[in-house]
Amino acid sequence: MLDKKPGAIVVGGGPAALTAAIALAAGGVDTVLVGKRPAAQDNRTTALLAGSVTALTTLGVWDLCAAQAAPLRLMRIVDDTGRLWRAPEVKFDALEIGLEAFGHNIENRHLVAALDRRARNLAGLRIVEDEVSMVTPDERSASVVLRNGETLEAQLVVGADGRRSLCRDAAGIAFDQHDYPQVALTVCLKHARSHHDTSTEFHTPSGPFTLVPLPGNRSSLVWVLDPTDADDLAALDDHSLSDEIERAAHSILGKIEVEAGRGVFPLTRASVKRFAANRVALVGEAAHVIPPIGAQGLNLGLRDAATIGELAVTAHRTGRDIGGINVLVAYDKMRRADVGSRTVAVDLLNRSLLSDFLPVQGARGLGLYAIDRIGPLRRMLMREGVAPRAAQPKLMRGETL
Ligand SMILES: Cc1cc2nc3c(=O)[nH]c(=O)nc-3n(C[C@H](O)[C@H](O)[C@H](O)COP(=O)(O)OP(=O)(O)OC[C@H]3O[C@@H](n4cnc5c(N)ncnc54)[C@H](O)[C@@H]3O)c2cc1C
Repeated sequence: MLDKKPGAIVVGGGPAALTAAIALAAGGVDTVLVGKRPAAQDNRTTALLAGSVTALTTLGVWDLCAAQAAPLRLMRIVDDTGRLWRAPEVKFDALEIGLEAFGHNIENRHLVAALDRRARNLAGLRIVEDEVSMVTPDERSASVVLRNGETLEAQLVVGADGRRSLCRDAAGIAFDQHDYPQVALTVCLKHARSHHDTSTEFHTPSGPFTLVPLPGNRSSLVWVLDPTDADDLAALDDHSLSDEIERAAHSILGKIEVEAGRGVFPLTRASVKRFAANRVALVGEAAHVIPPIGAQGLNLGLRDAATIGELAVTAHRTGRDIGGINVLVAYDKMRRADVGSRTVAVDLLNRSLLSDFLPVQGARGLGLYAIDRIGPLRRMLMREGVAPRAAQPKLMRGETL
C-alpha cells in the first residue's frame, strides 16, 4: 500500500476537464479541479453521440441538461459541390442499427452548466477557479502552482487545459499541428419548418455546411468556408446573413432567422506524440484537435476522460500509484487507435472536398455511392461512428466506476 498521498489534480475549465474530474471523484479519488473560465461565452453546440450521452447519464449529468438537447435520429449527406463526379445523397437512420437516436445536440453553455452543477455537488471534488502557472512532475508526485500562490501536490495531473496546454509542455510531450485554409462560421438559428430530428450536411467545395437540430424549430449551423468568405458573411447584419444561410440550405428549413452570437474558428488538426508521460495524462483538445466535421472532437475528449477515470479509479482501489507508469502507459495505448483513426478519417474527408483532382473527387463519390447502396457497410459505419470498437470505456457502456 502507498502512504497517504493526494489523488488527482485536473487542470482546465472546459467540458473535458469537468467530465474527468467528475469521473475521478465519483470513483472515490480525491480530486482538485483547477479551472480558468473562458473569457468569451461559447455559442457553439455539441452533437454528443450515444456513448457520450450514456457516460453523462452514468455520471449523473445528463438529467440536468437533457431537456435542452435535441435527438439526432437521421443524418443526411448531400453533395452540393456542383462537380462532375457528384455523389448520391446518403441517409443514415438510427433505427437501422436499433437506436432511437445517434445522439443529442446541445448548446455548450447548457452542457457546461450541467457539468458544473454536478461537479459542485460531489464530495471528494474541490473546485478552484484559478489558473495554473506551473506543473512540475517528479518521481513520486507532481506539484502544481496556482496564480493565487497556492501549491498543490498529487500523484496524477490530468491536463485538460485546451490546445495551448501548459500541462503538455510540462510533461515534455510534443504536439504536431497543421492548419487548414478554412474556418468554421457558427451560429444558432430559428426556422419556419421542422427539422424532423434530422441533421443535414451539405458538402460544398469549401467544406461542409452542417445544420444540426436543437429543441423546437431551432438548429445550429457549422459552415466551413474560405476565411475571406467567412469574414464577409460574419460582417453581414442578421437579416442578410439569415438570407445567405437560407440560400445555402436550399430553403429546406424554410425562413431562417439567426440568433445572437456568432463564432469563427480556424480549422486545425493537431495531435500529441504520446497521450501521457511524467505523471500527466492529457485529455480533450490538450491531446487532439480535429476539424468540426462529423461531430468527433468532444466525443473523443469525453472518451479520454472516461478512460483515464477508469484506469485511475481501478489503480486507486487496488492501492497502486494512480499517476504511475502502468496507468500512463495503459492510457496512452487505449487512446491511440480511437483518436488516430478519427483524425485520419476527418482529414481525408475534408481534403477530398477541397481537392480539384478529378480522381480524388471520383473516389469520394464512389465511396458515398457504396455507403448508400451497401447496407452492411452503412450499418458498420454507423455502429463504428456511435460506439467505436477500439474505445468502449465502462462509462460509455453505462457502468459506474
Ligand atoms: C465549430 C466547432 C463545432 C464543434 N462541434 C462539435 C460537435 O458537434 N461534437 C463534438 O464532439 N465536438 C465538437 N467540437 C469540438 C469541441 O468543441 C471541442 O473538442 C471541445 O470544446 C474541447 O473541450 P476541452 O475541454 O478539451 O477544451 P476547452 O473547451 O478549450 O477548455 C480548456 C479550458 O482550460 C482552461 N485553461 C487553459 N489553460 C489553463 C491553465 N493554465 N489553468 C487553468 N485552466 C486553464 C481554459 O480557460 C478552458 O476553460 C466542435 C468544435 C468547433 C470549433
